[in-house]
Amino acid sequence: MTIGEIINMLETVAPPSLQESWDNAGLLTGRMTTDCSGVLISLDVTDAVLQEAVRRGCNLVVAHHPMIFRGLKRIDEDEPTGRLTAFAIRHELAVYAMHTNLDNVMDGVNGVLADRFGLTDRRILQPMPGQLMKMVCMIPEGHLEAVSRAVFEAGAGRIGAYEGCGFTSNGLGTFTPLTGSDPFIGATGIPETVREHRWEVVFPAWLQRRVTAAMRAAHPYEEVAFDILRLENELHGVGSGIIGLLPEALTEAAFLDHARSVAGLPVLRHSARTGKMVQRVALCGGAGAFLIGRAVAAGADAYLTGDLKYHDFFEPDGRLLLVDIGHYESEHSSVDLLYHILTKKNYTFAVLKSVSGTNPVNYH
Ligand SMILES: [Zn+2]
Repeated sequence: MTIGEIINMLETVAPPSLQESWDNAGLLTGRMTTDCSGVLISLDVTDAVLQEAVRRGCNLVVAHHPMIFRGLKRIDEDEPTGRLTAFAIRHELAVYAMHTNLDNVMDGVNGVLADRFGLTDRRILQPMPGQLMKMVCMIPEGHLEAVSRAVFEAGAGRIGAYEGCGFTSNGLGTFTPLTGSDPFIGATGIPETVREHRWEVVFPAWLQRRVTAAMRAAHPYEEVAFDILRLENELHGVGSGIIGLLPEALTEAAFLDHARSVAGLPVLRHSARTGKMVQRVALCGGAGAFLIGRAVAAGADAYLTGDLKYHDFFEPDGRLLLVDIGHYESEHSSVDLLYHILTKKNYTFAVLKSVSGTNPVNYH
């Protein structure tokens, strides 16, 4: 199996178009066409991780955090990014990052963190705008079934827990085939009126090419009349952070004990206690200070994230309990998630979890 085929499989779970504008997820070194000898999964890419990949016979490293993040103008091996990049290229290692695109799907980094806290009734804390599209397509009578089936198979027509969602109305289409055309209905130079269906279906933005290709392949017309529209509606399951419910309400002290044990930390930092019970919990793996206001507005009793600064702890102002469970601690389960995605089917390549600890933060 090629590295490109493995990447395509990963991207069905977290499409690269869902990464934030400042991110650098994707293939950072290597070639899509190379055969994969094995995959090593890690949260970060460090010298130890790359050496481990070589030692264990893996020519693809899949990491959450991009090895190259900011623009790289020179490969200076006396600084870390240049050294890692040069090592990867020298040892023909493909390094692939699945970063904020894996954060921005319901079953991504935050989904795994929500699993660790047993959250139910989950929804995205800050939905990502502009991810829902609609196709309106004119289809001659007798061909609706074939076109709609192909388009549904390409992934369109899913709304929440429903599939095969579409809407049909009927009308008349008009056209005059010109010289050089090869019309399915009618003849050159003769105005034609045809009974057609106007069929509407929604799909996620990242499937646009697949959906339109499936529609064209199943449609009988040489030139298909269709519209692609970007909708203002939110696409269920795509965006930052998750909010859900704990199985039972806990006192703040019990909740903090629980969070500390889930994170595996000797100590954790939190804002002033509110005196309320904790059941509605918002969370965001990694650096999630940008969602504090959103968690307050959503009525969360507590908000769990990492990388909080001193002033962030003032922001809740008594409205929720803000808890820093550490950047690494909130995200390291994404290694298990990537492992799960890559081992769902029996592939021929080996999939290994890195044993090189990459957390740069130590406690004393
Ligand atoms: Zn992170």
